[in-house]
Amino acid sequence: MPEGPQVARYARLQAEKLAGHEINLDAPSGRSEDVASFFDGATLRGIEAIGKHLIYDFGDERLMHVHLGRFGTFHSGDIPAPEIRGIVRLRMWTDDVWFELRGAIAVEIFDNDRRTALGGRIGPNPLDPEADIEVAYRKIIKRRSSIGLLLMDQSIVGGIGNIYRSEVLFLNRVHPLAPGTSLTRKTWKAIWADLVRVMADGAKIGRIVTTHAVDRKKPKGAVRREDRFYVYHRTGLPCRHCGTAIEEMLLGTRRVFYCPKDQPAYVAPRVRASQKSRKPT
Ligand SMILES: [Zn+2]
Repeated sequence: MPEGPQVARYARLQAEKLAGHEINLDAPSGRSEDVASFFDGATLRGIEAIGKHLIYDFGDERLMHVHLGRFGTFHSGDIPAPEIRGIVRLRMWTDDVWFELRGAIAVEIFDNDRRTALGGRIGPNPLDPEADIEVAYRKIIKRRSSIGLLLMDQSIVGGIGNIYRSEVLFLNRVHPLAPGTSLTRKTWKAIWADLVRVMADGAKIGRIVTTHAVDRKKPKGAVRREDRFYVYHRTGLPCRHCGTAIEEMLLGTRRVFYCPKDQPAYVAPRVRASQKSRKPT
């Protein structure tokens, strides 16, 4: 199954071998014949990876879009290319190298507008080591919506669910209703670091645990069910940090959980009259 880092590697490797060359294309399975014949013989300028998507730039707004989905993979080698075996969606080759694509969801002709729409649709994913956290931050600080809602917006950050949302806001003492505009870069970096930690752990152990061992009732051994989270589904139970009863509220269509003491409601800063009239020292 290709994940972000693998797709980025495909883009890099193929760009090294193919960019600047006239590319031969064909579609042995017959499914993408129109696309292959459209780009056949054109010079490739570059390749860009976006999530599980690849964009091949053939210049003059001629873009080829490949969506790898869950099963898309590439194979490659030096010319001569082997006989076609099985279902090959697309074959690309130069005088030196060949690449074969199998199992992709989509192979289609794109233009710049659709490329832009695709880029705007999917935010960076914390599981992707090459994710650009600044891209997400710039989107968040422009929005007055609550950070609780923004974190669930896949166009801002990919892959965050309801558990991660509540937990990372608690870990960083951010109230779910604080507006995106109020988030400092420092806090965003800390939230991102927590997302990377808890999501990578989740992917590794196949179970979501966000608590640090010291905050669990039973710090040693296997994590018990009731020790997995700080706030998620712990309404009315004491906060692991301060003992205050955890609260919940409906945000969008989903419940978000928080500690009213550790995550105080956001109050917009006001310029005080005394600051205006203060004399320089
Ligand atoms: Zn608390």
